[in-house]
Amino acid sequence: MAVGPITNDAGCRMEARAMVQRRPGEALSLEYMPPGVPSAGEVLIRIEACGVCRTDLHVVDDELPGIVTPIVPGHEIVGRVESVGGGVEWPTAGSRVGVPWLGSTCQVCGYCRSGRENLCDAAEFTGYTRPGGFATHVVARAAYCIALPTHREAVALAPLLCAGLIGWRALRRAGDARRLGLYGFGASAHIVAQVAIAQGREVLAFTRDGDAAGQEFARSLGVGWAGSSLDDPPVPLDAAIVFAPDGSLVPRALRQLAKGGTVVCAGIHMSTIPAFDYRWLWEERSIASIANLTRDDARTFFASDESAGVVTTTRAYPLERANEALDDLRHGRIRGAAVLVP
Ligand SMILES: [Zn+2]
Ligand SMILES: [Zn+2]
Repeated sequence: MAVGPITNDAGCRMEARAMVQRRPGEALSLEYMPPGVPSAGEVLIRIEACGVCRTDLHVVDDELPGIVTPIVPGHEIVGRVESVGGGVEWPTAGSRVGVPWLGSTCQVCGYCRSGRENLCDAAEFTGYTRPGGFATHVVARAAYCIALPTHREAVALAPLLCAGLIGWRALRRAGDARRLGLYGFGASAHIVAQVAIAQGREVLAFTRDGDAAGQEFARSLGVGWAGSSLDDPPVPLDAAIVFAPDGSLVPRALRQLAKGGTVVCAGIHMSTIPAFDYRWLWEERSIASIANLTRDDARTFFASDESAGVVTTTRAYPLERANEALDDLRHGRIRGAAVLVP
């Protein structure tokens, strides 16, 4: 672990810390630096907590295109604005904000102009193409910050910034499905299950084969049926959301759908989907993916009663132990969500 000086040779205060990946595939290391300076349209945020998402694993494991090191991962940021750049009306200094995966969009491409900024041709993403939240400070685009409640604990809120928002978008994509299957019961599913149950849906959870504790965890959140992803559920599903990055789950979930049902793939990366018979897709079943999020997803989610009622299960780690948190996530040792606290 690198320990830097409090001031550098130029006498500049190195009071910010970050967990940085210097080269692709390497472990993160602690570095000291001056806090960033917000440019026009940006804010400097002092981070209270940052969740650890499966996408961070795909970043540090070099599984996504276009990664440029050095990189600071993390896109489930909860913090307070410390200073603002030119032209920023909101948030103001002291505001409690969240910084999600969608870090910036162009607002002029066809996608941006048709309400689909999540697909923007020139989008930037927090902790991927913009600085991330495995740090004490981050500079973010003001217009992409999310207003957060001030009374909720930062650690409890952090997983809502991606696991919650991506889950919310996936749930919207599932339409009015009454019986909903969740494949992979990690950070996102444990939030979506609570939201879907609050909406009056019936939720069925599919875990890794033999993960009795994971199934028990799902039941403790009000899930009606929990079993192995190899099992047939007692009833057909109107929709299934696949959170696990395992392509073999897609045809498996498809086979459990009622006519007209949809499998929604919610991850950014997945192993190859095996071939399957057309009859499993026949009768107007469909397979969809969701990508990123829009600011409208964030607004509607945080304004909803369902999000206010979500109780997240978290394991907090000091910032310096980010590698351990990533490793625990990689090996399925986290119940709920891992969160880093600087
Ligand atoms: Zn755009
Ligand atoms: Zn994420």
